[in-house]
Amino acid sequence: MKMDAKTLLQLAEEFGNPLYVYDAEKIQTQYHKLEKAFSKVKQLRINYAVKALSNISVLKLLKQLGSGLDTVSIQEVQLGLMAGYQPEKIIYTPNGVSLEEIEEVAALGVQINIDNLSVLEQFGAKHPSVPVCIRINPHVMAGGNSNISVGHIDSKFGISIHQLPHLLRIVQNTGMHINGIHMHTGSDILDIEVFLYAAEILFDTAKNFKELEFIDFGSGFKVPYKKDDIHTDIEELGKKLSKRYNSFCAEYGKDLTLCFEPGKFLVSEAGYFIAKVNVVKQTTSTVFAGVDSGFNHLIRPMLYGSYHHIENLSNPKGKERFYSVVGYICETDTFASNRRIAEIKEGDLLCFRNSGAYCFSMSSNYNSRVRPAEVLWYNGKGHLIRKRETFDDIIRNQVVIDLEPATVKI
Ligand SMILES: *Cc1c(COP(=O)(O)O)cnc(C)c1O
Repeated sequence: MKMDAKTLLQLAEEFGNPLYVYDAEKIQTQYHKLEKAFSKVKQLRINYAVKALSNISVLKLLKQLGSGLDTVSIQEVQLGLMAGYQPEKIIYTPNGVSLEEIEEVAALGVQINIDNLSVLEQFGAKHPSVPVCIRINPHVMAGGNSNISVGHIDSKFGISIHQLPHLLRIVQNTGMHINGIHMHTGSDILDIEVFLYAAEILFDTAKNFKELEFIDFGSGFKVPYKKDDIHTDIEELGKKLSKRYNSFCAEYGKDLTLCFEPGKFLVSEAGYFIAKVNVVKQTTSTVFAGVDSGFNHLIRPMLYGSYHHIENLSNPKGKERFYSVVGYICETDTFASNRRIAEIKEGDLLCFRNSGAYCFSMSSNYNSRVRPAEVLWYNGKGHLIRKRETFDDIIRNQVVIDLEPATVKI
C-alpha cells in the first residue's frame, strides 16, 4: 500500500505528534533499484550507511534485503550487531578516531577501513595479519561545464592519492594485508563522467595490491528533494560503471566484490516528519506558521540550508498561500521561508518530506525538549520503533549535587 496523506494522519492520530514515519516499502524499492542497476556485476555488496537513520528496526529491514552496513563509530557497529548482522557484513570507516577504538572494532571481526597513514602504520605494525581496507582521496571534482580536474582541495577524509608511494612503503614494511580499496568523496554524483574518472584512479591504485577482495565506491547518490530536482541517474551509472568494472576485474584476474555504501539513497524519501501548527502569526510582511518542533528534531534546513518539501496534511486542497514555517526553539529556527503551502490553520498537521536520512539521527534535546517517536509503516501497519522521549530522558544522566548553604557576606 502506498503511503498517502490519509495514512499519515491516521498514524499521527495513533502515535501522536511530532512523529517520524518511515515507509518500509520505499526502502525496499530503492534497494532493489540499486541492485538491479548493477545486476551485471558478479559480486555486488550494498552496505547501508547507518548514520543516515540508525534505528535498529530499520537496520533489521535492510538486513532482510541482504544489505551489509557501513559504520563510522563503535556504537554504530554495536547497533548493527544487535540488529543481527554478522561482523563480516559490517565495514567500519571512521575518521579521526583513536587507534584503541579501531582495535576494539577489529577484534569484533568487523572489516576495518583506515583513512590516514599514521594510524595505518601503527595498526599495521601491531596487527599485520588483520586485513585492512584503505580509504583513498582521489581529489576529483567537477569543474565548470563538466570539466574534470584533479583538484587540490584539502579534505580531512582519505589518504591522498599523491601519497601512494608512502602508503606502499608502509604496507611493505609492516607486511600488512590490504584487502580493499575505498573512496567516498561525500559530494553528490551528478555528473557520471566525473565519477567514472575517480573510479579510474581507484582502479590504478588497485593494481598495486595483489590480494584485494573488494573495491568500495562509497556513496554520493543524490535523490530528488523537490519536483524536477536533479538526481543521480542510477541506471546510467550502473550500465557504465558495471561494464568498466567487469573489464577491470578481467584485467586484475579476479572477480572482486563491488561495494557501495548509500545512506540517503535508501532512506531519505522513505521518511515523513509530521508536526502540528501551534500558531499562525501575521506580521507586517510575513505569515509565520509555528510548529510543535524545531531544529532539535530536524536540523538540516538550519545546518545545510536543505530544502524539505512541506505539505499541509489537514487541508491538502486548500488555496495556496505564502508561509514561513518556523520552529519553537529560541533561536532563528526556520524550516522554510516564504513557501507556498495550502492554507494553514492553527492545529493543522504539516508533513516534511525526505525526512528519512540525517533527520532523526541528528536530533537533540536542545531547549530541554524530548525527541519524537519513530514509526515504521510495514506490511500495511504502523509499528512503533522508538518511543517518544519523556522528561525522564532529559534528566537521566544528570547528577544533582548538594550545595553548601549560602553564606551571607557582611
Ligand atoms: C555518510 C557516509 C556515507 C553515506 O552517504 P550518503 O550521502 O547518505 O549516501 C557513505 N560512506 C561514508 C564513509 C560516509 O561517511
